[in-house]
Amino acid sequence: GKGAAMVTAVAYRLATQHAERQRILDTLRLSRENLLEVKKRMSEEMVRGLSKETHEQASVKMLPTFVRDTPDGTEHGDFLALDLGGSSFRVLLVRVRSGKSHNVDMHHKIYTIPQETMQGTGEELFSHIVFCISDFLEYMGMAGASLPLGFTFSFPCHQSKLDQGILLNWTKGFKASGCEGQDVITLLKEAVHRRREFDLNFVAVVNDTVGTMMTCSYEDPQCEVGLIVGTGTNACFMEEMQNIELVEGNDGRMCVNMEWGAFGDNGVLDDFCTEFDHIVDNCSTNPGKQRYEKMISGMYLGEVVRNVLLDFTDKGLLFRGKLSERLKTRCIFETKFLSQIESDRLAMRQVRSILQHLGLTISTCDDSVLVKEVCGVVSRRAAQLCGAGLAAVIDKMRENRNLNQLSVTVGVDGTLYKTHPHFSSIMQETMQDLAPQCQVTFHKSEDGSGKGAALITAVACRMKSEGQH
Ligand code: BGC
Ligand code: MG
Repeated sequence: GKGAAMVTAVAYRLATQHAERQRILDTLRLSRENLLEVKKRMSEEMVRGLSKETHEQASVKMLPTFVRDTPDGTEHGDFLALDLGGSSFRVLLVRVRSGKSHNVDMHHKIYTIPQETMQGTGEELFSHIVFCISDFLEYMGMAGASLPLGFTFSFPCHQSKLDQGILLNWTKGFKASGCEGQDVITLLKEAVHRRREFDLNFVAVVNDTVGTMMTCSYEDPQCEVGLIVGTGTNACFMEEMQNIELVEGNDGRMCVNMEWGAFGDNGVLDDFCTEFDHIVDNCSTNPGKQRYEKMISGMYLGEVVRNVLLDFTDKGLLFRGKLSERLKTRCIFETKFLSQIESDRLAMRQVRSILQHLGLTISTCDDSVLVKEVCGVVSRRAAQLCGAGLAAVIDKMRENRNLNQLSVTVGVDGTLYKTHPHFSSIMQETMQDLAPQCQVTFHKSEDGSGKGAALITAVACRMKSEGQH
């Protein structure tokens, strides 16, 4: 009768809606072949970045860092470190002790950088940084002290020596004017002079990946790779000097800051990008740039999720087709919410309450299940892409050394990697699958970027004083 026909119609509508959603989500799912292809393209881009002829046009820049020596445990002294470019800006005092129980003792203070300062003038940004240093020295009772300083500056910089870094371009929402193409140490020195209060002894500009690798290798000499999956993403590793055509000399190794976030800026990832990736890219402060990063890191994943949800709602596949103002608001899904929503320990009822807390009105129980599924698909893709890139790096190191098997440690930091319930395991699985000849140990770094800058500064000071003897 009529009732049965209605039931059939409803069932039919539910089934088509389900199929429609899956069709959309499938565009965000990558096959093993896709991932092998990503690995292969990353390998090719690495070679292009290293070679003199292709470096200029290459999207993965493979920047020399002038970090060649890892700490040997004899370093000691007090160092200042600055850490700019992650989820918070910090000033640190790091006390490095030598000897058997070589260890590191740290004090730090976190400062906020207001959005207006991040996107104002370079002068304002660097004056603010110097203000924070001054406040910190006072807070530590060390006003006027002139300590060696290492600057963790987590943006792409061209370096021709350790204590110089020319900013190539801002990433991650920073946009202060007048900085690109400038040496950030000079900008900092000028800001110090403007303040006329103290002097600083600048020793090193360090990328956060490099700081993380250094910190980890202080404890584990097998650590020759640094990885960040936080607000942004990037990796560094010890490359053979003979492959680094931008730097004179063929002996030994130097750490290369890959700047892999820019992978895909020349279009090589286009066949894996979805309409959602294009929207996220277009609405960012740097359209067309950091394409790989925008598919992986914490600053963007929530935006990819939100755009999928918008599309679902628009098509009547979610929230009963009702678009809320809240869902139209950028950046509501911070990393911590994604991590919470995907936690297996939460009951659906708790997911629902998180979504309600975010201001999203959940009409049916299926809505919460769906939102969780979307988060899962987006973060799985991120972890797999990251694993494929890492497989390319580790396999290159193995080939560099003519080894059948390579065992290596990767130092990792970043809020997404550390707080997401599945990211690290999916990333490792993918990597292991795509680089089966490598045994990789992951070592979570505690405070790597700040501590690492101090250690690199300490090594540089040791080398300088050894040179003078
Ligand atoms: C920057 C890298 C940095 C990474 C992680 C990227 O946006 O370009 O220099 O290492 O974020 O912080
Ligand atoms: Mg950091």
